[in-house]
Amino acid sequence: MFIEPSLNSRRQSERKGQIEVICGSMFSGKTEELIRRLTRAKLARQKVEIFKPSVDKRYHDSDVVSHNENTIRSTPVHFAGDILLLTGDCDVVGIDETQFFDEEIVHVVQLLANQGKRVILAGLDMDFEGKPFEPMPRLMAIAEYVTKVHAICMKCGELAAFSLRLSSAKEKVVLGEKESYEARCRKCFLEDKK
Ligand SMILES: [Zn+2]
Repeated sequence: MFIEPSLNSRRQSERKGQIEVICGSMFSGKTEELIRRLTRAKLARQKVEIFKPSVDKRYHDSDVVSHNENTIRSTPVHFAGDILLLTGDCDVVGIDETQFFDEEIVHVVQLLANQGKRVILAGLDMDFEGKPFEPMPRLMAIAEYVTKVHAICMKCGELAAFSLRLSSAKEKVVLGEKESYEARCRKCFLEDKK
C-alpha cells in the first residue's frame, strides 16, 4: 500500500529520499495520480519540479496535461541526464511518461532519491503487445512504492490493464492516444489483439 510521506518541510539533508512508481495502461489515470501527489506536496510548500521526455508532444510543450485537463507546468527534456542538471534544491521530482526515457533514467532516479529527494514516476508498464515496457520494470524494482492503477475495459466494463492499439502502425511510440488506443481487460485484449 502506498503511504504518503510526511510533507512537513524538514531540511533535505535530514530527509530520506524515496522512489514512487505509478504505472498502468492508457486511460488508467496515472497522470491524474501524479498531479494529485505533486499538488499536495506544493500545498505543503515543498519545492516541486516536473519533467517529461520531449518526445511527448501530444499537447502543450511545457505542461504535463492529464486527460481530465488538470495541468501542471513541466519541463520537457531530451535526455534523462538533463534532469540532474535541472533539479537543484527541489524536494520532490515528478516525471511523467517515464517509459519514453532510455535506461539512463534508472541511474538518474536512484541518484536523486539517494540525495534525499522524493521521486514520483508515472508511466506505461506494458506496450501495445502486452510486453513489459522498459525501463519501467527496472524502476518498479528499485522503488519503495509501486501503485498500479487500472482503466476500464472499453469492451466489457471490467478493470483493464492492457492498451489495445487500434491502428496497425509498427512503431512502439505512437502518440495521440485517444484515437489510437483503447483499454482492455486481459480476456478482451487477447480476443482483439491483431
Ligand atoms: Zn474486457
